[in-house]
Amino acid sequence: MQYTSFQPRPRTLLGPGPADVHPRILAAMARPTIGHLDPLFIALMDEIKDLLRYAFRTENRLTMPVSGPGSVGMETCFVNLVEPGDKVVVCINGVFGTRMKENVERIGATAVVVADPWGRAVDPNKLEDALRAHPDAKVVAFVHAETSTGARSDAKTLVEIAHRHDCITIVDAVTALGGCELQVDAWDIDAVYAGSQKCLSCTPGLAPISLNERALERIRSRQARVQSWFMDLNLVMGYWDGSQRRSYHHTAPINALYGLHEALLMLREEGIEQAWARHHRHHLALRAGLEALGLALIVPEGERLPQLNLVSIPEGIDDATVRARLLAEYDLELGAGLGDLAGKVWRIGLMGYSSRPENLMLCLGALGTVLR
Ligand code: PLP
Repeated sequence: MQYTSFQPRPRTLLGPGPADVHPRILAAMARPTIGHLDPLFIALMDEIKDLLRYAFRTENRLTMPVSGPGSVGMETCFVNLVEPGDKVVVCINGVFGTRMKENVERIGATAVVVADPWGRAVDPNKLEDALRAHPDAKVVAFVHAETSTGARSDAKTLVEIAHRHDCITIVDAVTALGGCELQVDAWDIDAVYAGSQKCLSCTPGLAPISLNERALERIRSRQARVQSWFMDLNLVMGYWDGSQRRSYHHTAPINALYGLHEALLMLREEGIEQAWARHHRHHLALRAGLEALGLALIVPEGERLPQLNLVSIPEGIDDATVRARLLAEYDLELGAGLGDLAGKVWRIGLMGYSSRPENLMLCLGALGTVLR
């Protein structure tokens, strides 16, 4: 067997993530690797934290990227903020809410589920009812942008309800960050995690998180030690917190962080509100084009994510055949449905650098031809 360097064909990634990575970001990642305690790298870490505060719209001191994919961001929030025996209200309207429940149960805490249909936003009235029925709940967790269904929940209202019932909030913003409005401070979100590979157009593998004072106080007053050594924020902060003498915790993914820095710089150059507006504009154009092809979005208007569009597969059309042809003939990747939606929908993501007019045209043109 003769092995050679891997040279993937360039694809256009219009699925649920990863999105296309901007060439500027790939170029940044190819720069020389330096030490993870090098003063130059420490300065870069401080800039990344500042730029993340801009992206999250927060002044939270504890704002940083966790080394690991979005799932590690999720787990970091849960293992630090939930203790064995706690009661956590988990809103489930898709795959990622289900994973939150799994996190809660693996900690030895109790999950109270607020269930909504896949493809719909979390119903605030159901959350209110659950919190009335469980006054001992300590945490409310929900997904702002459900990638499995394309539904956006009203994070501001859900957080307000949770706080009225003395709960802190854990919000999944993996797909939300950079693609639709997310206001960590103005909405008073206590803990939020995101991913590098969606609307930030960076490579997968980093999970920005941000925790406010209320969340930090919860960590300080824990009875039980955080069961994960790697994700214990008390220890991670020894490396990421500039007010302390930085010490080795783990070897940071240095070049990946060059990429995240470049991605955040580009977001700042564009302007966060302009990025939200771009995603919205391209969503409207995609919707109009899909309607012209006779294809319908499944999420009701008003609950739709601009960056991720779920399209019903027309009667008699084979999901896998269409996606295979799009990949083979157009180098175009669309996402398949997950769980109950498998075989019934396509997930079309216009995220970050993928959210461009030429990709819209490619997607509509290719789908139109393959479905003819
Ligand atoms: N949460 C949501 C809403 C996601 O869309 C994803 C990934 O698609 C995750 C969590 C997990 O992120 P990762 O796959 O980077 O671990």
